[in-house]
Amino acid sequence: MTKAAKPKKTKHLPLRTCISCRENKSKRELLRVVRTPDGHVAIDATGKKSGRGAYLCARLSCWELAMKKKRLEQEFKVTISEEDRVGLDAYIATLPKDEPRPPREQTGKAQSTRKNVPEVLR
Ligand SMILES: [Zn+2]
Repeated sequence: MTKAAKPKKTKHLPLRTCISCRENKSKRELLRVVRTPDGHVAIDATGKKSGRGAYLCARLSCWELAMKKKRLEQEFKVTISEEDRVGLDAYIATLPKDEPRPPREQTGKAQSTRKNVPEVLR
């Protein structure tokens, strides 16, 4: 008599969706942002603040996109105050730049606004 094979995934790993890139990731890979009961929006580095939460990847590109598209404001249905914005910006500035792009722009000349020129034309 053999005992039935146990499925390996017994461990429950909670996944959350980044509000910017919409990828599902484990909570460890994401940063929680919270809208506090009094209407402030702040990073919740400990994950323990009360309030409505949203998640974003801990990488600069997702935050920049979220800020540009006002994702947090849509998500929380608030206007982020200047004060809160400064706090978020300060935090964002510490994030790693993780952009999956070839380092083409490094060599760039000062005014290279067009970057979609295919390299085959060289
Ligand atoms: Zn993301």
